Amino acid sequence: MLYLSTKYLLIMSDSPIRVHFVSMECYPCAKVGGLADVVGSLPKYLNDQGAEVTVFMPKYRMKWFEGKSFDYRHVSHFYLHHERIDYGIAEVTDANLGFRLMVIDIPGKMDRNGVYAGADGHFFGDEIQRHLCFQRAYLNFIVLSEHTPDVVHCHDHHSGLIPFIMQNCDGYRNLASLPVVFTIHNERYQGVFPWTMHYLLPQFDSWKAGMLDWGNLINPLASAVKCAWKVTTVSPSYMEELKYNSMGLEALFHQENHKCVGILNGIDNEVWDPATDPFLTSLYEGDVDDFKLKNKLALLEGTQLDPELPLVAFIGRFAGEKGADLLPGIIEESLRRELPLNFVVLGTGDKWVEHQMGILAYHRPDKVAAMITYNEAVSHKIYAGTDFLLMPSRVEPCGLNQMYAMRYGTVPIVHNIGGLKDSVTYFDGDNGTGLKFNSLDFYHVFEEFQRAIYLHGAKKLLTTARTNGMDADFSWVKSAGQYMDIYRSVTGR
Ligand code: ADP
Repeated sequence: MLYLSTKYLLIMSDSPIRVHFVSMECYPCAKVGGLADVVGSLPKYLNDQGAEVTVFMPKYRMKWFEGKSFDYRHVSHFYLHHERIDYGIAEVTDANLGFRLMVIDIPGKMDRNGVYAGADGHFFGDEIQRHLCFQRAYLNFIVLSEHTPDVVHCHDHHSGLIPFIMQNCDGYRNLASLPVVFTIHNERYQGVFPWTMHYLLPQFDSWKAGMLDWGNLINPLASAVKCAWKVTTVSPSYMEELKYNSMGLEALFHQENHKCVGILNGIDNEVWDPATDPFLTSLYEGDVDDFKLKNKLALLEGTQLDPELPLVAFIGRFAGEKGADLLPGIIEESLRRELPLNFVVLGTGDKWVEHQMGILAYHRPDKVAAMITYNEAVSHKIYAGTDFLLMPSRVEPCGLNQMYAMRYGTVPIVHNIGGLKDSVTYFDGDNGTGLKFNSLDFYHVFEEFQRAIYLHGAKKLLTTARTNGMDADFSWVKSAGQYMDIYRSVTGR
């Protein structure tokens, strides 16, 4: 008997930890930003280290989903207040992503041509209902089927009500003792809604309302920080910064500090491989300068930009947190000072920034190229073909762009905060991978621009900086190990 139970325990401890990722984005199925990159890559590395990850995401009406095979495992309905919501949960049997993908099919709510906004850039307007339906459908699936995981791992506020519902709502309390980990990819978006809409939630004991509340609003992000067993952010420095700059949640992060951990994101070295990247014109064959030059010439073909000059890129959402509103001013100032720099910008978002970038590119086609679009292929070409990548972020939870840049031999010039602080080391002529400014004012930014210009002229130094970046290890292996430690601690395995 004793022998049997010991053996059983051994089998238990050897069996993989079953983890469910719940996320609105997953690369390559549906991507808006870094959340998709993380959810589309981290599971592969976790699976190598003793987990068995299944990703749950909405089934959108987007290109990637066309023609895929869906094996429906669960079809049912629930009521969102008085509205009947029909849903299905299906495995995508031909996804070939390196992990199991389940989609949550909610006709009328999720089958849209966009994750948060339509093609015109306007938000759908029913985010609260959509996110609640997504979370309820997932929870119904695990509560009603035999697919209970060992750990539920929620990502960002869209799945932030899951821990509260599991622990406090009628119909879900069987899940109350199931460990939940919550990862904050961006605290700027908290998903708040007024208490007058509380009827959209399943029934809960009114004295538990405090676990939903922050500032007299229902705050899914704050609720997840309160209710999850462990909270992670995507870099250690960002975790510290949240305690004094987190859109009103500072006190909460102080209070819950004991269960919060910062784990630096990694990148998918298979997708981001300069030696095999199918989006590139020329692949890396061992000579970094040759690789950079060929890709720069290909990138600048058809433009009036002089390939002899240092080329500075910006890629990303035109949002205040990325410092995108500073870009037009920085570029104008560079033109006014007649600096020997050219700029290439890829992004969408804030209409004022889009407009200003269009004007700059129109008036100075010899200095500025602006692509006001979202284009994955072009982003790869830019990482490979530019000399420097500028990131004047006001807030940067982790930032993946600087890591992609370094992997492709591009030297990042970054604001020294959050994940940028943790992933870029200052290039001192020998060691280090990038240039950093400690303040967002022009004086400090242009000081680094002057260093960039000097670096570009000193070919040996430039090669060293490029090589250091390419040699830096940003793979997921170490960070996946830290997530495994968290899963082990919450499951006791
Ligand atoms: P975010 O806060 O937007 O998630 P990250 O740095 O974590 O920022 O991730 C941004 C991701 O989105 C990167 O993979 C970047 O290359 C990609 N990206 C952002 N804007 C664009 C664009 N306009 N076209 C192509 N890729 C983009």
